[in-house]
Amino acid sequence: MTPPPDATWFLPLGGTGEIGMNLNLYGHNGRWLLVDCGITFEQKAGSVSGRPSIQMPDPGFITSRRQCIDGLILTHAHEDHLGAVPYLWPQLDCPVYTTPFTASVLRKKCGWRRAAMPSPLVEVNPSDRLQIGVFDVQWLPITHSTPETCALLIRTPGCRVLHTADWKVDTRPVVGEGWRTADWQGSDFDGIDAVVCDSTNALTPGRSPSEGDVADGLLKTLAPLTGKVVVACFASNVARLQSVLRVAHATGRRVGLLGRSLENMYRCARANDYLDPDFSPIAHEHLDYLPENEVLALATGSQGEVGAALHKLSMDSHPHLSLGEGDTVVFSAKTIPGNEAAVLRLVENLRARGVAVIHADESRHTLHASGHPCQEELADLYRQLKPGLVIPVHGEESHMRANAQIARQQGAASALTGSNGDLFHLSPTPGVRRRWAPTGRLEWLEDVQRLISA
Ligand SMILES: [Zn+2]
Ligand SMILES: [Zn+2]
Repeated sequence: MTPPPDATWFLPLGGTGEIGMNLNLYGHNGRWLLVDCGITFEQKAGSVSGRPSIQMPDPGFITSRRQCIDGLILTHAHEDHLGAVPYLWPQLDCPVYTTPFTASVLRKKCGWRRAAMPSPLVEVNPSDRLQIGVFDVQWLPITHSTPETCALLIRTPGCRVLHTADWKVDTRPVVGEGWRTADWQGSDFDGIDAVVCDSTNALTPGRSPSEGDVADGLLKTLAPLTGKVVVACFASNVARLQSVLRVAHATGRRVGLLGRSLENMYRCARANDYLDPDFSPIAHEHLDYLPENEVLALATGSQGEVGAALHKLSMDSHPHLSLGEGDTVVFSAKTIPGNEAAVLRLVENLRARGVAVIHADESRHTLHASGHPCQEELADLYRQLKPGLVIPVHGEESHMRANAQIARQQGAASALTGSNGDLFHLSPTPGVRRRWAPTGRLEWLEDVQRLISA
């Protein structure tokens, strides 16, 4: 069964009912538009390396119809939105559309995996509007925790749907332009038919802090420290990288980047003019030659990942930096549920060697800001747009139910929750057909790949 010319459909194959590995399909007039193609990580018992395996959505439903794909849009550079492209694109074999920063991250990823580069890879500026097959797509820049994240306004004859992607309200994002929901006004947004929306923080009251608040918190936290300092954060948060470089400048320290993903992200951010060229990092090999009060290392591994830079520092096995009494590790990241034990082990190992640890989850200063909307941000969006239909995605069932409840309270005519494989009718009449398409997970065994390439 293919989408008829008078209907517009939404079909998630990944990322609905779970956080991670997003793969969303929009259908109209016999054609499909894909939005995002991501991975998730899963810790396997008995793994040879201790590293998690890479999981991705089974795209079988759409690869068996690949002649009907008009394109794949990547909304931003996070792994749960583009990480599966190096593995799955050869089966999709369709044009890929994304913004320049996300394209550079994808090129690095494909190069490192020695995977086929998507072709054509079409670079789109945030705010562009393109006709992609039967879909009229308008990119809408929003704020999130990586640069150039865009929502999409997708138009088909008789339907306008807003795909929010991952978003938050941030008026001081440090990198890029500030944004608030009030910016979405005018005829493009009046009487919108459907909103497909991020549910990650729908259980969290209030609003997300700004990256600007984190920059202030980092300065207050680091200013009084005298020994070596390591800040751990997510590599893709370019604003955090910029904030740490500025704090280093303000406190007389030099920054070294520890971890391949941080170095790659730094290069992509520089190539796209997202970092202030006045505050450059030094080669990490030089960190150990500096006086202790001038050392500031930015490290990967805030989730306790085995083999990451912070893990090596905790084991005192890093080749270029050694920590001890008088030194401090600052976690500028929250602990993702499921990683608590690994993070605790890391913290205990550091403290056992006399290293002070300041964690964002416990600090009185703001040291981390989520990139997703909390309850008041969601309420503002729905109150403003009053959409005909809201479909919560990007969350587990409890997050999606909470998101749907907020939508109804704020005047959405209808809110439908579901799971991967459910077919949502956006127009002409909203509805859902449960378990319409087959879904599943594919697994890329990181361990096996490492053994092969060793
Ligand atoms: Zn996401
Ligand atoms: Zn994201």
